[in-house]
Amino acid sequence: MPDRQDGMQTDTICQYSVDQYIDKLKAFHGNFAPGLLIGGFMVDAAARRMAEHEFVDAICESDSCLLDAIQMLTPCTVGNGWLKIVNTGRFALALYEKRSGVGVRVGIDASKLDRYPEIKNWLMRLKSKHEQDGAALLSEIKAAGPDILSVRPVQVSAALRTKKPGDPIGICESCGEAFPNNGSRLCLACQGMDLYG
Ligand SMILES: [Zn+2]
Repeated sequence: MPDRQDGMQTDTICQYSVDQYIDKLKAFHGNFAPGLLIGGFMVDAAARRMAEHEFVDAICESDSCLLDAIQMLTPCTVGNGWLKIVNTGRFALALYEKRSGVGVRVGIDASKLDRYPEIKNWLMRLKSKHEQDGAALLSEIKAAGPDILSVRPVQVSAALRTKKPGDPIGICESCGEAFPNNGSRLCLACQGMDLYG
């Protein structure tokens, strides 16, 4: 597929063909998730615009499969701290230069979804998973590629970029495990968190 006039490409997701990426996401995520394919186009759109920067961190605005698209396609993971979840509930992400905060945010432009009814059903949860036409949704996502995305430059706030010093570590008087105590004698679990029933 040739490049589109607006410079958006639809035939690749980072270094993969779309079909290669789908195979890879199934292996990583355990099953096919429509949001992970859309997320692949989102990461690709952001990564293209951040290509000249060496140290790029990520923000994911939802606690969802979108996280896995970022973790598959960039060096940023929740575990290494280069990927932060700032849960606004929006299906959106940002990649930004670690020090300056200069970056790009990619979300879904809901106003463009009237042309893609299955994607709209999925995003707006207008149909249950059972009612969704999976094949139609997949082909709409492939056809849409980056067409449904909204991309804009952002400056990530200093507060988000600053690493906060950790609390001192203490030993919980109840379970005997180490935890960040910030003045408390009991860890959060022993304070009564409903964790393991
Ligand atoms: Zn404890």
